[in-house]
Amino acid sequence: ADRIVVKIGTSTLIRHNSQANLQVIKQLAYALSTLRKAGKDVVLVSSGAIGVGMGVLGLNQRPHKVSEQQAVASIGQTELMQLYSKALQEYGMVAAQMLLTRDVTDYPESHTNVMNTFQELLALPNAIPIINENDSVTVTEMDHHTKFGDNDQLSAIVANLIDADLLIMLSDIDGFYNANPLKVPNAKLIDQVHAIDPDIIELAGGHGSKFGTGGMTTKLKAAKMILKHHQEMILANGKEPSIILNILAGDDVGTLFT
Ligand code: ADP
Repeated sequence: ADRIVVKIGTSTLIRHNSQANLQVIKQLAYALSTLRKAGKDVVLVSSGAIGVGMGVLGLNQRPHKVSEQQAVASIGQTELMQLYSKALQEYGMVAAQMLLTRDVTDYPESHTNVMNTFQELLALPNAIPIINENDSVTVTEMDHHTKFGDNDQLSAIVANLIDADLLIMLSDIDGFYNANPLKVPNAKLIDQVHAIDPDIIELAGGHGSKFGTGGMTTKLKAAKMILKHHQEMILANGKEPSIILNILAGDDVGTLFT
């Protein structure tokens, strides 16, 4: 795989006290830099802005109002980028922030502009694009016209846009199981998935779990987009982001959607 999109989830990046997990960020910076230095095109899609923002503001509860979430996200986003920037600097890399909206798929002009930006950034020897949804522009959680829905689906859209060979989805779980391991302790890891059919969606708790966003449901929606475009996705545990290097070395970890 020469062109890789990595998505990292809130559950992996943020500690329970709303502090960013610096160990994870450092190791992620190391893994991405290593790939970049090996000549690979690497793009990161990172969640965590609201979580980090809560830490900055000393909030111990996620605000209920969407506008408040947008404010917290905008504060958290700069802090998060600062952490990435600093971590990447250790390896001679620079962070390039890209905040996207659905415009990039809906409007040809926006599409052209974002593609031009990707091209220039990936032509640089040391830049790593770090992507998030532009939360202050996109409207409500429920408005699917303006929201990508979530960063899982955003990462699949990015993988489609740049024609990536592989999407590595890092979460707080080792892969996709035949039942939610939180509820079914002896659930078994599924090695490979070839189609996102209703039986598979059922294993993720079905439609409508967690209000239809987050959890496995959105990861399966991302996988569906990936399979439709004949691309590959690996869902793996991001607690040690150096797993990215194991994956590219061909180690059999996580669940491969192919
Ligand atoms: P992230 O913050 O990384 O995006 P989420 O917490 O949204 O991750 O989703 C991961 C969670 O999905 C797991 O911790 C697990 O509890 C849940 N889950 C539900 N069904 C499954 C399944 N079949 N296999 C694995 N995890 C599942």
